[in-house]
Amino acid sequence: MAARPDPVSAHAAASVEGVSPHTTLYNGRKASHPLHILIVGCGMGGLAAAHCLGKAGHKVTVFEAAAAIGEVGAGIQVTPNVSRLLRRWGAGDALEAVGVRPEAIVLRRYATGERVGYTRWTDMEEKYGAPYYHIHRADLHKLLFDLAAPFMTLRLQSTVVSVDPDAPSITLGSGEVVQGDMIVGADGVKSLLQRVVLGHTNPAEPTGDAVYRAIVPSHLLLADPELRELVDVPEMTGWMGPRRHIMAYNIRGKNEYNVVLAHPDDGSVESWTAEGSADKMRADFADYEPRVRKILSFVNSTLKWRLMDRKPLKTWIHPSYKVILLGDACHPMLPYRAQGAAMAIEDAAVLGNLLSHLSHPAQLKSLLQAYENLRLPRTAETQRQSRLNQTIFHLPDGPEQEQRDADMRKATEAELRRWREGKRAADEKLAGSANQWADEDKNMAQFAYDADAAAERWWAEVGQKQVGGLRATHGTSRDQQVLSRL
Ligand SMILES: Cc1cc2nc3c(=O)[nH]c(=O)nc-3n(C[C@H](O)[C@H](O)[C@H](O)COP(=O)(O)OP(=O)(O)OC[C@H]3O[C@@H](n4cnc5c(N)ncnc54)[C@H](O)[C@@H]3O)c2cc1C
Repeated sequence: MAARPDPVSAHAAASVEGVSPHTTLYNGRKASHPLHILIVGCGMGGLAAAHCLGKAGHKVTVFEAAAAIGEVGAGIQVTPNVSRLLRRWGAGDALEAVGVRPEAIVLRRYATGERVGYTRWTDMEEKYGAPYYHIHRADLHKLLFDLAAPFMTLRLQSTVVSVDPDAPSITLGSGEVVQGDMIVGADGVKSLLQRVVLGHTNPAEPTGDAVYRAIVPSHLLLADPELRELVDVPEMTGWMGPRRHIMAYNIRGKNEYNVVLAHPDDGSVESWTAEGSADKMRADFADYEPRVRKILSFVNSTLKWRLMDRKPLKTWIHPSYKVILLGDACHPMLPYRAQGAAMAIEDAAVLGNLLSHLSHPAQLKSLLQAYENLRLPRTAETQRQSRLNQTIFHLPDGPEQEQRDADMRKATEAELRRWREGKRAADEKLAGSANQWADEDKNMAQFAYDADAAAERWWAEVGQKQVGGLRATHGTSRDQQVLSRL
């Protein structure tokens, strides 16, 4: 068997200072019936799950197909619903060190650059209890890795080729069979574990869109009087056009400018490593305003990625209650609300919190059902909102687009009025705005959500009685420990 790499030195990205995985979670509660949990996939969802399940007292082994782990050269948005968790987990300082706090989202017309949508983001912490960050994907992955490392055994170059959901066990490409007590499928959009859970194939669906991704050194923008402001005032800027849009923002201490360009899919692949043609990218966006064309002229290479999603699944749990799904494996979504990794990380938080209560095997079914009940509706609604932005952003020029822009302008005026008059967002909710970030109810639901609070609430209202009862009928915790070994 190949030597197992030291998990702490296995990460390809530079170290992020300041991660402390020694915080107390779940009020110090740990499962008195610890499981050996096998996690398939060392993406952001798998790492977050390794941290939370480890903190909950379980033994965790993570299996990753890749020979080295890390993330691609691209940015990612960390919204308050996630930064709240990362702070709680001990990564607040690291996040602050590598993240850029955007001041606003600005939505513009593609050809003229005219601003139609504007929502301020400077008061995120005051409104939703945690900040909004733009960061490099490798930095976020490394930060999650540092949180997970003390709690996991990581097996790289370990492709899971089949699963026995009843044992439960996994078989690796090498033929090795590994048995555990429970398996978490965090194996991404092409998930094998999803097929196991559902009992049939259910491939992710093409959304019709693909993206180019590129990072431009910020000094190139700073040297140009027309572009300088994009770095000086770190906003998330979106340019909306027929069947295409661009989102751009600063990362890495405003030293890099991240650009994501959505366009009709013309046969790209679902792989981060696929190189796209920078010239084709420029041609695809040749009718965008001069500032965009200038930024794209700085791009030497680009990554291309086909965007897939999937209708919400009926269940995330195998009937054996020994295999469950998490992250893109169960709810891939368009990145147009910047919530894919966010939902995977929230999944992990809820799962860890719930399984910290485990004191007898008989409780597992109820706890896993609670996980699905808490998570499936929220992720389904987030998938829906992400799809909605595809329609909103990509309207062809014409009456519907004019109506969209008028609606966004109305919300912008309200936002600026509110700002000038020092009013609170709650005063004017802008429900159903075409600028979904102007809709205060949606913001509250998405950004103020606390995954741990949701799990604790369920326990207080339902679980304590339901699951605690199961514990009582199965005797004392000493009895449980003995029983669980039998
Ligand atoms: C263009 C774009 C922009 C995005 N922007 C944002 C954003 O701003 N904010 C946000 O929150 N989200 C964003 N997302 C979504 C986010 O990237 C994903 O939702 C997130 O990375 C999913 O994490 P995951 O751990 O579930 O899956 P993955 O990251 O796909 O990880 C799955 C892992 O499992 C491994 N694996 C797969 N099969 C096997 C197997 N059989 N055996 C062993 N290992 C296996 C893979 O190698 C991989 O490492 C964006 C996505 C895209 C495409």
